[in-house]
Amino acid sequence: SLTLGIVGLPNVGKSTLFNALTRNDALAANYPFATIEPNVGVVPLPDPRLGKLAEIFDSAKVVPAVVSFVDIAGIVKGASEGAGLGNKFLANIREANAICQVIRVFDDPDVVHVEGKIDPLSDIETINTELILADLQTLEKALPRLEKEARTRKEHRPALENAQHAKAILDSGRTLFAAQGEVDLPALRELNLLTTKPFLYVFNADEGVLTDKDRRAELTELVAPADAVFLDAKVEAELLELDDEESVRELLESVGQEEPGLYALTRAGFHTLGLQTYLTAGPKEARAWTIPKGATAPQAAGVIHSDFERGFIKAEVVSFDDLVEAGSMAAARAAGKVRMEGKDYVMADGDVVEFRFNV
Ligand code: GDP
Repeated sequence: SLTLGIVGLPNVGKSTLFNALTRNDALAANYPFATIEPNVGVVPLPDPRLGKLAEIFDSAKVVPAVVSFVDIAGIVKGASEGAGLGNKFLANIREANAICQVIRVFDDPDVVHVEGKIDPLSDIETINTELILADLQTLEKALPRLEKEARTRKEHRPALENAQHAKAILDSGRTLFAAQGEVDLPALRELNLLTTKPFLYVFNADEGVLTDKDRRAELTELVAPADAVFLDAKVEAELLELDDEESVRELLESVGQEEPGLYALTRAGFHTLGLQTYLTAGPKEARAWTIPKGATAPQAAGVIHSDFERGFIKAEVVSFDDLVEAGSMAAARAAGKVRMEGKDYVMADGDVVEFRFNV
């Protein structure tokens, strides 16, 4: 499954956030480089539609989609120079499908800031610089081969030109993700570069920032086109200790949040990975299934079982909203809201589906 790699400078709250995401109690220590081994956390994607479906179909249980986060070791600066932990850091990022950078915007004199001050732009650039330098090394190694291929076969010329263009972008200090309109990212896939991966930014903030609309807009603008999520990792951890809804609501209110930041983070992670869900429901379960955006009906069926993809005949599809409005599958059918879709149908988020297939 696809994963988001959590990165960030030491002491920005990565472990606190990761532990809250996975509810485990691994050490969140107040000193740099506390997190060395990467960890994987599988987090359910909050989806209120499932509860509603379970009501309509009288389903015995609800099975949400999940998002996988990998906590990547804390070494950042100098990683591209190679030694030991630096190599491991980059290798772990290479395995991730998207990069989730945690940025500290909370102020706390008791927690040492490795750069001495709160400066989101500088933190972003520190990470970007290491990834850019690593990509430049990869490109410099690959270019002689690409040049040779372009000399012998002219159809290989666009690949060379694209790689040269990518190098120029990196030389100017920009990530390839940020320059996505100017370079052919899919054509670079074989090089497995780091900065082509989609980025997501988590601002680990305190109440002052969380309730300050202008500051949030400024930070959102800073990282666009990437998604920005705002939360207070310490509050997120505290929320998990509370067992009554009233206390949860009060604590959220005190930091100006409508829902736990972890929900927004999980949704943004799912979105950043280019994923969407479709839904199935019956007496056994109401369930969300994960597919890439743009997946066709047979591909979607294949996520349930490979036999479903091979033997696909058609899909009976109703949008979630139409189903809820009709109140039942039978009523949706009677209202003409249930469509029969063939093998070229491209799935929409929130389609409620029943597949017909041969075995
Ligand atoms: P990491 O090095 O990025 O993994 O950072 P940790 O999660 O270990 O956090 C470093 C220190 O900052 C710990 O003492 C945390 O309790 C503290 N911390 C983390 N998030 C917050 C936050 O949102 N607000 C405050 N005040 N402290 C935090």
